[in-house]
Amino acid sequence: MQVQSVFLFETPVEIWSRVYRTLRPRAAMPEIQVRYGKFVDAHTYARLRDGKLEVKITDVLDGAPAPILESLAYILLGKLFRKPVPALYNQRYRRYMNRREMRRSLQLLRQMRGRKYLSGAQGKNCNLERVFEDLNRRFFDGLLARPQLGWSKTRSRGILGHYDPSHNAIIISRIFDDPEAPRLGLEYVMFHEMLHLCHPPEHGYAKRRVHTKEFKEAERGFPRLKEAKLLLKKLCAKACRES
Ligand SMILES: [Zn+2]
Repeated sequence: MQVQSVFLFETPVEIWSRVYRTLRPRAAMPEIQVRYGKFVDAHTYARLRDGKLEVKITDVLDGAPAPILESLAYILLGKLFRKPVPALYNQRYRRYMNRREMRRSLQLLRQMRGRKYLSGAQGKNCNLERVFEDLNRRFFDGLLARPQLGWSKTRSRGILGHYDPSHNAIIISRIFDDPEAPRLGLEYVMFHEMLHLCHPPEHGYAKRRVHTKEFKEAERGFPRLKEAKLLLKKLCAKACRES
């Protein structure tokens, strides 16, 4: 595709320079600094300071596809210089940020960063370290490095588990910290999140794929997979997914 080749070799700074040039064809090109920062939400800004254009982007967008970064550049520079932003860029950015996966990361980020610390692995009834190491021995030859492990703040049924690469943390829904909770369900959710440790996402042109073909294939190595999935479905009653 034609559009794609524009982005192929562009760094974020180059994308921003190009958009700056388009919006301000005659202005001097400032020095441009693009940084990714840990924000509680999707807060992102561009400002001019001492002739330098400072851009700070939420780290949720670190690794976002180039067309998304380009759209963001149009939106923020448009705002900064009071230039109208072509609808295409607004739509593209909004669509990306509204994807379920993105909404979920933002929600979890807020949960985690809003607090002083991550809950430890030890819950009221269950220790996640033990669950992790047991699965590690059984399925990964004990070779997976253990990330931070924690329980979610609430008994979430919407999100049963999540791997957060920016904190290298696996968060498990508190719903499983219960003697009544099915152990198979907990083990499956943990196993799924552990696969995220060894199967990095693929970055395509328009989207980031977390559950790659290899990931799904590896997941089929979990014994009683069907039973486990059914269990989770019942547990959630309504549609829910692990991420
Ligand atoms: Zn997943």
